Amino acid sequence: MMNIILLGPPGSGKGTQAALLSGKLNAPHISTGDILRRAAGTELGNRAAEYMNRGELVPDSVLIEMIRDRLLQADCAKAFILDGYPRTIPQADALADILRKLDRGLDLVLNIDVPDAELITRLSARRVCKCGATYHLTFNPPENEGVCDLCGKRLYHRDDDREESIRNRLSVYKKQTQPLIDYYGDRGVLVTVDGCGSIEQIAVEICAAVEA
Ligand code: ADP
Ligand code: ADP
Ligand code: ZN
Repeated sequence: MMNIILLGPPGSGKGTQAALLSGKLNAPHISTGDILRRAAGTELGNRAAEYMNRGELVPDSVLIEMIRDRLLQADCAKAFILDGYPRTIPQADALADILRKLDRGLDLVLNIDVPDAELITRLSARRVCKCGATYHLTFNPPENEGVCDLCGKRLYHRDDDREESIRNRLSVYKKQTQPLIDYYGDRGVLVTVDGCGSIEQIAVEICAAVEA
């Protein structure tokens, strides 16, 4: 039984590593960003997009309700990997509350550490697929240019993966999300991994932390 959070700034590799770990542990990969993007066209999606395009956080109340619904689904009964949630202290408190009521806890919070300059390089050339797959033009290109390896759909450049929005997201991260490093450190579940190696090297480090 493994309940895991991937913590780190935008572009640190949470989505990439969560997908790999999800395959290894056979646990669902829950990306709140993906859930919000998939809601495009619905009332929730339209409301969220206003915040997302500016690089701001969607209000806590929306996220808390969303994660509660998701964690109650059957596929999360044994394990889950959270990618992009929590991003604020109130979200972390709400998660603790949800898990307490289910008589469950958190096993591991992996904090992926990457310097800002590298984050900007990664996000500016990130390309994503509607199916949730993530690529990079130079560091992790798809086999056929512009097309997803997994599902064949066209890849796209997210509106918030442009320099101005990226800078805002990094400052939002520092103000609102970074305090979670101490929050989980104090609770004894935090492991920090150096997020600067290759995707494969970091995956090996993460596996070691999961097995420890
Ligand atoms: P996050 O989910 O934390 O925002 P992603 O997993 O989407 O981060 O990764 C951001 C970008 O960096 C993507 O384009 C991804 O392909 C690329 N990337 C992920 N891990 C690495 C790595 N270790 N080295 C180089 N590029 C990486
Ligand atoms: P990245 O990993 O590149 O930061 P995500 O796909 O995780 O991007 O998130 C994209 C956007 O979705 C965020 O900038 C924010 O607007 C919104 N979002 C996702 N998760 C949360 C969350 N837990 N709380 C508030 N907003 C969120
Ligand atoms: Zn795809």
